[in-house]
Amino acid sequence: MDLRYGKRYTAVSAGSCEDRYDAVVVGAGPAGIMAALGCARACQRVLLVEAARLPREKSCGGMLNRYSLRALEPFGGVPEDMVLDPRWVHFRYYHMDARVKKATRVRFLNVDRARFDAWLLSLLPANVHVCEATSVADVRQTPREVRVDLRSGCAKRRTVQAAYCIAADGPRATVRERLGLRPFDRYLTVQEYVRIEAGALEPYFDCVYARRLSRDYGIGYLMPKGDIAIVGSIFYPGTRDADRKHQEALDLLRREYPLGPSVKRETWMAAHLRTPADLVAGQGRVLLAGEGGGFLSCTSGEGISFALNSGCMAGRAVARALSDKDREACAALERYECALRPMKRNLAFRMGMFPLINSYMGKNVACLIPTPLVSKVTERL
Ligand SMILES: Cc1cc2nc3c(=O)[nH]c(=O)nc-3n(C[C@H](O)[C@H](O)[C@H](O)COP(=O)(O)OP(=O)(O)OC[C@H]3O[C@@H](n4cnc5c(N)ncnc54)[C@H](O)[C@@H]3O)c2cc1C
Repeated sequence: MDLRYGKRYTAVSAGSCEDRYDAVVVGAGPAGIMAALGCARACQRVLLVEAARLPREKSCGGMLNRYSLRALEPFGGVPEDMVLDPRWVHFRYYHMDARVKKATRVRFLNVDRARFDAWLLSLLPANVHVCEATSVADVRQTPREVRVDLRSGCAKRRTVQAAYCIAADGPRATVRERLGLRPFDRYLTVQEYVRIEAGALEPYFDCVYARRLSRDYGIGYLMPKGDIAIVGSIFYPGTRDADRKHQEALDLLRREYPLGPSVKRETWMAAHLRTPADLVAGQGRVLLAGEGGGFLSCTSGEGISFALNSGCMAGRAVARALSDKDREACAALERYECALRPMKRNLAFRMGMFPLINSYMGKNVACLIPTPLVSKVTERL
């Protein structure tokens, strides 16, 4: 598949980038790209460092909720060529043991995630220097600046200076770790791409629960994506033998759904967030955005809207601090903290609900209550 959209940003390598930037952004996911876009409005030069080769491939369901779509409106909305069939997919609970399905009114635009990421990248302007296949190994700060250590395959370690750094490095959260900020656990995720006859599955994003699956098994899901279905398994931190446990879930689902041969299997990770203290905006001149800051729904696993919105807020906060020539080390962080308040409240509410929703009792209660009510609660989660 051709993932190239028009490119306006400036490609650099670890060896050829400048010594000093107004801002360095770590990670070219939705949070990092929005952060870089925000900074680029006020900064002369922004460096965006990405560990993977671009365009990248990130394991994901590619389900965009209405908040993601709203965040993308200023960019003309999502291009049609990444939308898959069926276009809209509704969220549905499936309690397999009780054989109860609850279809909700919550719907998602069904997109190809790799194309989506490639398109986001194409939005970056020329004053964003993008350095791919390069990892940020360390970040140190003084009251006046941040020093970011870069590491790439061919170049030696290189240090770049900046007024601010926005870490949008996803569940790996290297910068958060290097700064000694509160760490989080990680779920292990497995996604299987399985052939289906086009139109063979109903237009639902099924979230499947069955008690007979391993106790490490958090939740399973299944969604149609053109002539492929994604079958996903989410395992609690510390799970061993996830491949075999995923295979058991897949075998079980094959009895229920018309699934063809497997094409690909991939494993990834996702932040396992438990308390509001896991939501960390940053420290000094370093701001954390997206999943690396803890901005992801613990109840639904939905992270794209939180990444887009937190990235946007972080970028704007840095841009404002730089245009005001505010030299205080925490000028941008204070603005960012302030903008983040509603998002933090929203995520804290989900964290409060999570133990109930995740419990055996909660799953059984959901089977008993009327579907419109399940739908209403899901809208908030
Ligand atoms: C299996 C799975 C399915 C999902 N499905 C959905 C879905 O359907 N809808 C939804 O809304 N959300 C979904 N999510 C969540 C969503 O994908 C993430 O929350 C979202 O991509 C987070 O965006 P981000 O920009 O914060 O981080 P990421 O998209 O993870 O991007 C972080 C980037 O930082 C780079 N990086 C990491 N460390 C370094 C470093 N040291 N130096 C340089 N670069 C670095 C990484 O290579 C990566 O490209 C899913 C997650 C998983 C795991």
